[in-house]
Amino acid sequence: MKVFAFINQKGGVGKTTSVVTLGSGLALRGYKTLIVDCDPQGHVATQLGIPKSPGLRRWYYDEEPLDQVIVQVRNNLMVITSDKTTDRVLGRMREEQWGAAEFADRLREESAAMEFDAVLLDLAPSLNHLQIAAMLASDYVIIPTRLRYTDLDGVNEITRSISETARRSRMPGRYFLLPTLFDRVTRETHQRLLELVNAFGKQVLPPIPQDVKIAEAPGRGMTIWEYAPQCSGVKGYPNGSGKTIGGYEVILDELIRLIES
Ligand code: ADP
Ligand code: MG
Repeated sequence: MKVFAFINQKGGVGKTTSVVTLGSGLALRGYKTLIVDCDPQGHVATQLGIPKSPGLRRWYYDEEPLDQVIVQVRNNLMVITSDKTTDRVLGRMREEQWGAAEFADRLREESAAMEFDAVLLDLAPSLNHLQIAAMLASDYVIIPTRLRYTDLDGVNEITRSISETARRSRMPGRYFLLPTLFDRVTRETHQRLLELVNAFGKQVLPPIPQDVKIAEAPGRGMTIWEYAPQCSGVKGYPNGSGKTIGGYEVILDELIRLIES
């Protein structure tokens, strides 16, 4: 089992979209997958076309067992939903010194007992107790980020936080950057992508092109694999010399490589 936490303190950078797309992709490839929505906005449920509900609060705060709070949404795909009651989870973590560590241990234990192959955590746009708890639970942190001028500051803040958390715990502190909503037309974004690669090397995953199909799919109650599996958001974009670059499919292959390793 591998646990992936999707973290960025900015909103609108494609965290939830990446979690839902990659989680449903893993499920389609036969991996038993759990998505844990840790954002009080509950957008995982919205994107998957199910009602928001207090799944995370029931599991963590009311201490109900995992198998009683998960909702099956597709073959191989289970979800712990979220809604505004997730604020109570945060409240307890603030009060109790070991809240975050307890969250991480319980999540790993219970999802291993249910024989999940992959657990993907979607986080709210902040860098707080729940994000630390998710880091502690994770084998890998994935940082979805856009490539606008103001986005790159945030990335440094998160990577610092990951390193600090790793120093104080047994978490491995491994992370990847996932450039999202990639605007392949402007030179500026290509320049920023290069800067990111210069700074972080192989930790930068191939970019996800901006693609209207990706934004449309949830409104139709479908994942992108069901709605438009051939779109550039999935398949990548041609780079001019006959190669395609990026897209969720190559990221999915990368996650599978990590799960199998
Ligand atoms: P976050 O969870 O970080 O707040 P979301 O995944 O909710 O971000 O994405 C923010 C918005 O951008 C949503 O409306 C989503 O549909 C849209 N979006 C995400 N990724 C893409 C993409 N690759 N192309 C076009 N729209 C996207
Ligand atoms: Mg979100």
